[in-house]
Amino acid sequence: MASIFTKIINGEIPSYKIAEDDDNYAFLDINPNAKGHTLCVPKKEVDKVLDLDEESYVKLMTFSRKVGQAIEKAIPCKRVGMSVIGLEVPHVHVHLIPLQSMANATFQNKESLTAEEFEAVAEQIKSHL
Ligand code: 5GP
Repeated sequence: MASIFTKIINGEIPSYKIAEDDDNYAFLDINPNAKGHTLCVPKKEVDKVLDLDEESYVKLMTFSRKVGQAIEKAIPCKRVGMSVIGLEVPHVHVHLIPLQSMANATFQNKESLTAEEFEAVAEQIKSHL
C-alpha cells in the first residue's frame, strides 16, 4: 500500500508544498516542532534512509540543503536542524526544523498553526528558493 507521503506526493492528500524536483518533494510537517518545520521526501518509496541507493541519497541531501537554506532565510531562528529520525511513517523523510533551542528538536513540544498560518509560512519559505 502507498505510504501517506506517496499519497501527498501524488496529490491524493493535500499538503503545504514547498518544493519539488524529479526525485524529491518538500512540504510542511502538519504537526510541527516549530513554525517552518518541513519534510523532504524522496519520490521513490523506501522505508529507511540507509537503504537508499547512493545517488538517491545524495540527491535527497542536496535537495534538503537547498530547502533548508530557504527556511533559514525565511524563518527567524538560530539555525535549521536536520534529522532523519522517527518510526511513524515508513517512507524516508528528512526533518528540517528551525531551532530557537534544543527543545525544538525533541519532537515533544508541538506548535499549532491555522491553515492561514501554514499557507503564509509556505509562501515565505518559497520566496527564498
Ligand atoms: P516520524 O516517522 O518522523 O516519527 O513521523 C512522521 C512525521 O510526519 C511527523 O512529524 C508527522 O507530524 C508528519 N506527518 C504525518 N502524517 C502527515 C500528513 O498527513 N501530512 C503532513 N504534512 N505531515 C505528516
